[in-house]
Amino acid sequence: MNGICANDGIEGTERFASPGKGRGLRALKHFAVGSLVFACPAYSYVLTANERGAHCEYCFTRKDGLSKCGKCKQAYYCEVDCQKGDWPMHKLECTAMSSYGENWCPSETVRLVARILMKQKVTTERTQSERLLLLSEFEAHLDKLDNEKNEMNQTDIAALHHFYSRHIDFPDDQTLTVLFGQVNCNGFTIEDEELSHLGSAVFPDVALMNHSCSPNVIVTYKGTVAEVRAVQDIQPGDEIFNSYIDLLYPTDDRNERLRESYFFTCVCDECTTRSKDEAKMELRKLSSAPMPEEVRKMVRYARNVIEEFRRAKHYKTPSELLEICELSQEKMGSIFADTNVYMLHMMYQAMGVCLYMQDWDGAMSYGEKIIQPYSVHYPAYSLNVASMYLKLGRLYLGLEKKSQGIKALEKAIAIMEVAHGKDHHYVTEVQREVEDLK
Ligand SMILES: [Zn+2]
Ligand SMILES: [Zn+2]
Ligand SMILES: [Zn+2]
Repeated sequence: MNGICANDGIEGTERFASPGKGRGLRALKHFAVGSLVFACPAYSYVLTANERGAHCEYCFTRKDGLSKCGKCKQAYYCEVDCQKGDWPMHKLECTAMSSYGENWCPSETVRLVARILMKQKVTTERTQSERLLLLSEFEAHLDKLDNEKNEMNQTDIAALHHFYSRHIDFPDDQTLTVLFGQVNCNGFTIEDEELSHLGSAVFPDVALMNHSCSPNVIVTYKGTVAEVRAVQDIQPGDEIFNSYIDLLYPTDDRNERLRESYFFTCVCDECTTRSKDEAKMELRKLSSAPMPEEVRKMVRYARNVIEEFRRAKHYKTPSELLEICELSQEKMGSIFADTNVYMLHMMYQAMGVCLYMQDWDGAMSYGEKIIQPYSVHYPAYSLNVASMYLKLGRLYLGLEKKSQGIKALEKAIAIMEVAHGKDHHYVTEVQREVEDLK
């Protein structure tokens, strides 16, 4: 592979022992805002079932007119080279999908782990995805799993045996338990420019970076390659931090999420100073301020309704979902301002339902309420903000609001030029959308 030895590491960076955080990644040179720190091809990846037909299973290219796998008629490819390239992985599922029919239902994690096992079988040397960290070095945190997580692991192992036994000689259950633990803590989801879920993958070198709520890099994807770009000025000696979570929420919520999924508590500047918490928890201006107990009660309600909605998404109808959003906003709105992150969370969900139902006016009016507070709550360069400008801009254009559309798309481009890089096809695509209008 282009003459680079995997053991050469990643130019301008080094793996080091980060005080209190275990291993981490440190800069050895200056990285300006918008510059590429490194790229990492996926060690293993899988396209999500919902995106079949829209993206090539092998290279993740999004285009019309992909060709179907003649055997299972479920996988789609750019052309024969992609189909050939994907076969070592696709053969794990091709026959099984046909023979199980509707009963073929392994989770995405199971599908990814099957591919990792297959890759491990044929890989003898350190890969280009593991220049600084080997997949086998991932933490599994098995000692920290609660009953629910342990049960989920066992269910996944059973599904792996059930759906993939034809092609894989499985290691013992303890080894599989460790592997599922490693993938759960170190796996990535690949998203498109509007943050729609495209698939799951492991990028060992990307997983080396520790978390901060004020990250100095952002990870984006070009096909199945992860790219890491600086979003703050990085000096030699600085630790390079990525964010593992959605940064919209107040400090306590972020840390609950980090403990739940990654088993640590964050001590970054944002978590120590809590400088954004007050704005994120903004209350409605009322003649008499609510009692602290009332506010606490409403926060508990908000967290519950967020969880309720997350579960309801799997079985309720769009109009039922919209009702949950509207009722909860009405209730929270008695105390919370419209810029409060819990209000914004429900507005964002409502916007998603409107988009799904092709209610463009509804989606636009939610987007308009969300975008300004989003720009305040999120860091300067944020994929959440960029994708909201993008969705809003495209909605405006669809509704023939040309000048507003151009303005929103230009805001998205400004962020994406830093986060994705000026030459990323997402950026050039949006630029073309704008050019075509002028
Ligand atoms: Zn392809
Ligand atoms: Zn097939
Ligand atoms: Zn933090």
